[in-house]
Amino acid sequence: MKIDKLLTKRKYMHGLQCPKYLWVTFGSPKLIPEPDIVAGYRINERKLVGELVQQLYPGGIEVPIEDFASHIEQTRAFIKQRKLIFGAGILVDNIYSQIDILKPVDNDLWDIIDIKNATDIKSHYIAEISFQKFCCERAGLKIRKCCIAYINNGYVRQGGLDPHGMFKIEDITANVNIDTENIQKEIEEMVKIIHEKECPKITISQHCKDPDECLLKGHCWEFLPINNVFELTRGGKKSFELFARGICEIKDIPDGFKLTEKQLIQKKCVLTNSVHISKEDIKNFINSLLYPLYYLDFESYMTAIPRFDGTKPYQQIPFQFSIHIVKDKDGEIEHRSFLADGIDDPRKKLVTSLISVLGDKGSVVVYSSFEKTRLRELAEAFPEHKAEIDSIVGRIVDLFAPFQDFQYYNSEQKGSASIKAVLPAITGKGYKDMEISDGQVASISYLNVTFGKVSDEEKAKTRKELEKYCCLDTKGMVWIGEKLKELIAA
Ligand code: SF4
Repeated sequence: MKIDKLLTKRKYMHGLQCPKYLWVTFGSPKLIPEPDIVAGYRINERKLVGELVQQLYPGGIEVPIEDFASHIEQTRAFIKQRKLIFGAGILVDNIYSQIDILKPVDNDLWDIIDIKNATDIKSHYIAEISFQKFCCERAGLKIRKCCIAYINNGYVRQGGLDPHGMFKIEDITANVNIDTENIQKEIEEMVKIIHEKECPKITISQHCKDPDECLLKGHCWEFLPINNVFELTRGGKKSFELFARGICEIKDIPDGFKLTEKQLIQKKCVLTNSVHISKEDIKNFINSLLYPLYYLDFESYMTAIPRFDGTKPYQQIPFQFSIHIVKDKDGEIEHRSFLADGIDDPRKKLVTSLISVLGDKGSVVVYSSFEKTRLRELAEAFPEHKAEIDSIVGRIVDLFAPFQDFQYYNSEQKGSASIKAVLPAITGKGYKDMEISDGQVASISYLNVTFGKVSDEEKAKTRKELEKYCCLDTKGMVWIGEKLKELIAA
């Protein structure tokens, strides 16, 4: 069955975000980047969550999707037989929607249950279900209720998984009914757009990130020059206001325009082509460090479905650390690391190893509040180590602070104080050419080689890359610390 220009639920959502995005999905789909490892992981996780929710609805029949024509036909047959259907495919004219769970209820009525990998109900979910309800009603089904099954973040796993505890089901029929009033008109508009020969002229705006970052952002935002107004730290609406007034570059922001202190520093750096350094503040920061210095970084993963007893959905599970130890001012450096192996809860081994490496004196230097939060969680999970972990937390110094406070600012950071922006800006070194170059990819790679079916060779290779990535995070912090010292000595 080949249907020309099918408006699916996903495409309808694209259309609500931006007509240009909708048009491109039909008219120029090559512009949309291929799904990356993160997208692939999310699809798989959604599938696992879906299977768990289905356990709450015994007797349901899954409709395979591989052959679209039979997917539609089988759904129609099951509807006639009033079966409980998982993954029902509803096609009316050129409009198609897949329904996670379509449940027959009293008389000839049906309930729609949409499954979400989320711990709360976001407003755009209403529009998604409205589309599903619209398709069902156009196909002649009478819908009684529309519900969302989502994750209960208060659920703590003990033994086997309990889908009754892990999910909440909320009736959102009233909200959906309000939303569906305009849907016919919206769909007509969208059908018109997808049949246009030319792409609609849409300028960038806040909708590029709302409700999710648009996959075409790299393409549509490419025209912006360096030092553009969207690089203003916490620019938000202000950046869009400037852009709407035709001001694209930071250097062109009029003197009277209200900027924050940090934004004024950015403007000064661009206009004078210089780096901002507040020597006195940086000196105070450097002087607050007590040797030996332990530069610490964790990697962690979080999964919707908790893997271990005592853990919750989306709880961060640290599985790796890297520590660079700078023993004294002359700079003798040692590297220590931990990378969990095996499918058991890695936290206990990580904690004991960490405590033995960090000893009981010297500053523990981190970048952001992430490590402190993880340590507090570990202290709660392993009360027998609480005193030692609390003492480590008390030794933490955050290297992010001087950059967050703009004690140092370099336009190459593009308004960001993250280590990924600061490291190349201040040292010229960075994460380019690394096979694993961000935390999200690190955690997915770890999950793949630890819990997935991969060859020993692939596992060994990925673990080496993980070691390399985490090591660079702490080595990078050492380089940044050294650079700060050089700057105040100059
Ligand atoms: S990046 Fe923005 S303008 Fe471009 S298609 Fe996406 S939402 Fe539309």
